[in-house]
Amino acid sequence: MHKIEHIGIAVKSLESSNDLFAKLFGESHYKLEKVASEGVNTSFFQVGPNKIELLEASGPDSPIAKFLEKRGEGIHHIAFDVEDIHAEIARLKEEEFIIINETPRKGADNKLVCFLHPKTTNGVLIELCQEIR
Ligand code: ZN
Repeated sequence: MHKIEHIGIAVKSLESSNDLFAKLFGESHYKLEKVASEGVNTSFFQVGPNKIELLEASGPDSPIAKFLEKRGEGIHHIAFDVEDIHAEIARLKEEEFIIINETPRKGADNKLVCFLHPKTTNGVLIELCQEIR
């Protein structure tokens, strides 16, 4: 893993949170993206070299809806950029981390993504992402 790719924040309303975070950062989001496979609507903010992803549930069965119900709004996951997601999954499995989806899916922002179960990472949901080249 070389760096944090972005931090994901779960919000109830993307619309009102886009306004809030635009005030916070002094700049609007640069993109909106619906990721049907994950049941989320997302927006991305660039803050210097860093990216923040806001996540809103696109329906009641969305994992974000479940997260909001259990924990409320807040930091949802930390995403790390990896060079080769398949090699990284194999390495982390070897280290006995639980991979939620061993076959990477297409996530937001032109990435292949997978998640590690927070049970094996001190309660932090970790996303691995690899740029689709
Ligand atoms: Zn993410």
